[in-house]
Amino acid sequence: MKFGGTSVEGATAFQNAARIVSERRELRPVVVVSAMAGFTDALLASVKEALHGDASSAASTLEKHFDRHLRVIEALLSSEAQRMRNLIEQSRSEINERLHAMAVETDQDDNQRKRFADAVASFGERLSAAMLSAVLVENKVSSTDVDARLCIVTDDEYGCAAPLIGETFRRTREQLQPLLESRSVPVLGGFIGATLGGETTTLGRGGSDYSAAIIGAALAAEEIQIWTDVPGVLTADPRVAPKARTVPKLSFEEAAELAYFGAKVLHPKTLQPAIERNIPVRICNSRAPESGSTLVVAETEKSPQTVKAIAHKTGVTTVQVTSARMLGAYGFLRALFEVFDQHRTAVDVVTTSEVSVSLSLDDISALPSIVAELEKLGSVNVEEKRAILCIVGEGLRSTPGIAARIFSTISDINVSLISQGASRINLTFAVEEARAREAVTRLHREFFEDSDEEASKYLTAEIETAV
Ligand code: ADP
Ligand code: ASP
Ligand code: MG
Repeated sequence: MKFGGTSVEGATAFQNAARIVSERRELRPVVVVSAMAGFTDALLASVKEALHGDASSAASTLEKHFDRHLRVIEALLSSEAQRMRNLIEQSRSEINERLHAMAVETDQDDNQRKRFADAVASFGERLSAAMLSAVLVENKVSSTDVDARLCIVTDDEYGCAAPLIGETFRRTREQLQPLLESRSVPVLGGFIGATLGGETTTLGRGGSDYSAAIIGAALAAEEIQIWTDVPGVLTADPRVAPKARTVPKLSFEEAAELAYFGAKVLHPKTLQPAIERNIPVRICNSRAPESGSTLVVAETEKSPQTVKAIAHKTGVTTVQVTSARMLGAYGFLRALFEVFDQHRTAVDVVTTSEVSVSLSLDDISALPSIVAELEKLGSVNVEEKRAILCIVGEGLRSTPGIAARIFSTISDINVSLISQGASRINLTFAVEEARAREAVTRLHREFFEDSDEEASKYLTAEIETAV
């Protein structure tokens, strides 16, 4: 059971999370928790400020967050309160010390800076795990705070480390199985890990979902539950489409596409471990557990309106490489993708014609060098400030009329990089970033708000809940 930042944003949220766990303790849960909402942002901002040389100001920005932790302690703890106050105090001085040490170090390289950022950011999850475990104990649920760094072993790619799966599974079982056998609920911070040498790492922003999935897979859990602030995966981002509704069931593949193309409710890597071990993933609402949830499973099922959800991702850059040398040649695509490989840059969507290749990128940190290399292959055109829209639903490719409906709904918005070829479940394309919200709103209205009764029934269907 993973609880995100808003599910531990204050005393009421902590109490709610503890109640949800307590009600399910017979299922022998393992709990993974994020930092209190906003704390990771604040910790990373303080790191930036310290690196600019102002450690005192950096440290002072964190004070209100330590106060938030202390208010939770005052509201919910009695026998555990002093131990937790001490932990907050100890963390505060350790963070301050690190910020001051870093501010006077002038010749750190990029890697050292990232390592430092991970060490400071890790306090968010470490503190909330200790606190949630204490709240459980205070509620008469036997619980143990486990340092996630003893379980999740990663490489040394600070800021977005990759778990070493074999070792992680072994250590996770070693740490957690005895606790589960003795009926103590383990609580671990998500997002964090450690290298084989014991240096603290993080799995990338939003990575607590991924931690939960890894731990669930290591223990062959019955289900991986992601408890968040919305009732499951919705038909679109509710901040853009306020009438978005819960999608009751998704296949692994559908959910993975949505997560990858912007549905922030799931970290894109969450489904990997679940798929490998065939463990269902359920997304639930910690604020209102009865308000609906999404079950993600291996099997696929077609919904009456075919389209199940729309995801979108802004801040995308598209690159087009045009070259007559591509005509009838072999080895051209290999040479092209090698450029991205060398610069460790992931490519999202790819489309090709006889003489050109278009693709989209999220991470443009290496773009100038990539473009310089690509220019050796052909003429290069870069477009920034684009957005990707991804429309997902089993049977999209084989259902006539869906593409026509999509593109006629947004016929006055310029669309590029249309891609449907490889999968039967999604249709992806790029639009100008400034028009992405409008495109999502209109498509949502077309497919979900004016939809027929059958579709409506599907979206509100009660599915068997084990939560
Ligand atoms: P947590 O802190 O629990 O990890 P996140 O903020 O990372 O929560 O993810 C939940 C948020 O994801 C929702 O509040 C919502 O704004 C956003 N979101 C974007 N797309 C979707 C979608 N298709 N379904 C549900 N939520 C979505
Ligand atoms: N606290 C981390 C973040 O804000 C990880 C997470 O919440 O999943 O990115
Ligand atoms: Mg999240």
